[in-house]
Amino acid sequence: MPNAQPVEPCHRDALVQAADALLQPARFKDYGPNGLQVEGKTQIRRLISGVTASLALIDAAIEQQADAILVHHGLFWRGQDGRVTGWMKQRLSRLLAHDINLLAYHLPLDAHPEWGNNAQLARRLGVAVAGCFGDQDLGLWGQAPNPDPQAFIAQARQLFGREPVVVHPDPQRPWRRIGWCSGGAQGYFEAAIAAGVDLFLTGEISEPQAHLARETGVAFMACGHHATERWGAPAVAAQLAQGLGLHHQFIDIPNPA
Ligand SMILES: [Zn+2]
Repeated sequence: MPNAQPVEPCHRDALVQAADALLQPARFKDYGPNGLQVEGKTQIRRLISGVTASLALIDAAIEQQADAILVHHGLFWRGQDGRVTGWMKQRLSRLLAHDINLLAYHLPLDAHPEWGNNAQLARRLGVAVAGCFGDQDLGLWGQAPNPDPQAFIAQARQLFGREPVVVHPDPQRPWRRIGWCSGGAQGYFEAAIAAGVDLFLTGEISEPQAHLARETGVAFMACGHHATERWGAPAVAAQLAQGLGLHHQFIDIPNPA
């Protein structure tokens, strides 16, 4: 419903400043530029949020007459070769042709204490945040509301809408202290173990984590990179839209990863 309600436009700079003020990207060492990645029109009425600036999301945003898109995974990452060819040309040319602004916030959007991916995970898991661990304190831990592993697995299955990959080396050990970090945070497992967790939950698992789990007795659960990062961008965008009087819509592009 692109024209459901007319709203007063805000200036692009006001949106970027509000997002920067909320997410404080200068506090993070990140893998790509945070903030305005692609400059579009100056007048913003309609903000679309999504997980990744994929072609499918961009096309869906165009259909919804977006003036700006806010995502967790933007277009530009350290280590890219910098050429605008192939898929990059496709995505960029669509944005530029429709004069759409692209804002991307990676680690700042994981970390925001209320609207970020990890805080949103805590809320949905019913775990009160008691501490943090890992690089830039991105990992969080807290006490599980129910230490029964099977109850927690059932809850995760329902929450993420998929069968999680679980390495549960010691079935007798209750999951009292839970650590988590959204997305591809399997590299945080050792820091989580050092923080004393019984279970570490993230999006992805790689080969080494199964061995580490078996050798330390600490359980590991992978619930999907996309599945664990679906709540931060819409929560942040909703806050910004409310503050600036914009129309906001989250568009989920399903992803099996
Ligand atoms: Zn991610």
